Amino acid sequence: MINKEINIIGGGCSALSLARLINKLPNYKFNLFLGDKNKINKDHFWGFWKVEINEEAYDNANHVWSKWSINTNDSKHILTSMKHPYCVIKRHLWLEICRKQLQSEKTTIFENDVLEKDDKLFIKNKKIKGNLVFDSRPPKLPSNVLLQHFEGFVVTSNKDVFDEKLVTLMDFRCDQSRGMHFIYLLPFSKRKALVESTMFSKIVENKEYYSTEISKYLKNYYNLIEFKKSDHEKGIIPMHYIFNESKEAYNIGTRGGAVRPSSGYAFTFIQKQAYQIISQIKNRKKINTKIHNNIDLFLDKIFINVINEYPLLAPKIFSGLARKLNGDEMAKFMSGYASLITTCKIIISMPKIPFIKSFFNVVFRK
Ligand SMILES: Cc1cc2nc3c(=O)[nH]c(=O)nc-3n(C[C@H](O)[C@H](O)[C@H](O)COP(=O)(O)OP(=O)(O)OC[C@H]3O[C@@H](n4cnc5c(N)ncnc54)[C@H](O)[C@@H]3O)c2cc1C
Repeated sequence: MINKEINIIGGGCSALSLARLINKLPNYKFNLFLGDKNKINKDHFWGFWKVEINEEAYDNANHVWSKWSINTNDSKHILTSMKHPYCVIKRHLWLEICRKQLQSEKTTIFENDVLEKDDKLFIKNKKIKGNLVFDSRPPKLPSNVLLQHFEGFVVTSNKDVFDEKLVTLMDFRCDQSRGMHFIYLLPFSKRKALVESTMFSKIVENKEYYSTEISKYLKNYYNLIEFKKSDHEKGIIPMHYIFNESKEAYNIGTRGGAVRPSSGYAFTFIQKQAYQIISQIKNRKKINTKIHNNIDLFLDKIFINVINEYPLLAPKIFSGLARKLNGDEMAKFMSGYASLITTCKIIISMPKIPFIKSFFNVVFRK
């Protein structure tokens, strides 16, 4: 018999990834509050490495590659993993896959925005009630923190230029004068690729900057001058741990700490968070939506401090990481499953003095 009610606020990645798993809870029905801007959400890709927790997304991925590279002016490291390939899935496709799994007899959908007043949550002036409330509304962004900001587009060329088997995860052969900067290139075919200019800095650049950097890169390294642009993507992700605590709800997704501060990756962590919540409800455990362990968060703080203070070291840091790790290790590290040995290898690969200085900065700033 259905006798318990769950409320899920939002219609994005974390809300729908969780909602689709409610099937696993026979005694629950749920309300989904999508928010009124949900329909106009632009499409974009979510990138992730295949691990057990995101297997459903892997099975439906738009593209999968088993090789990725990290390039600098002095080095090119290619990492390979057949077990944990790099994948992308489109936002709209994943959300549709989740929505198809909602059971109509257990689900009530509201399209309106949820409003917050004095820590209480309302829909159309009615307080949201229920046994459990999970909130994924975008959080307020902290000010004066390092940001990951990126813009790019799909490039279509009329000649074969891209190696469709190799993702360029980071290519540092671009302007480094305004902060850490790399080009991310996902080849969909020999003639088509998503190319993004990504920066880790406090100041978001104007649109022309990213576009010019992409054009320069394509000219210099692919001899590509004429191409068509489509499917523009852009985003700003704070490189800061955000975990909002609320009296009335458990926070999930970006506001519930799912974004890994050092990388901006969240898709796999959102899947982990959803399974963790379902297991806690099933086993009548206290709900805890925290998903990153304290050691990872501490190391992330040190890393972010180093990038903030010494952005020019970034190519050396990432090429060092790529030299020390194999593809499986890197994929697991990026997905939050690094072994102790991998963590030690990463620490050893880092330039010592800046990391020791940042360690003290982080410890004594607390
Ligand atoms: C452009 C971009 C690219 C990214 N790429 C990657 C990637 O490649 N890999 C990766 O791992 N991570 C990536 N991320 C980070 C992260 O995976 C995404 O931000 C992810 O969408 C976060 O999920 P979420 O549920 O917290 O937020 P969202 O998916 O943004 O969902 C928030 C939801 O809240 C709803 N809402 C807003 N206000 C209200 C309200 N008042 N009431 C009710 N609902 C409301 C919105 O309509 C929306 O449905 C990317 C982020 C961005 C912005």
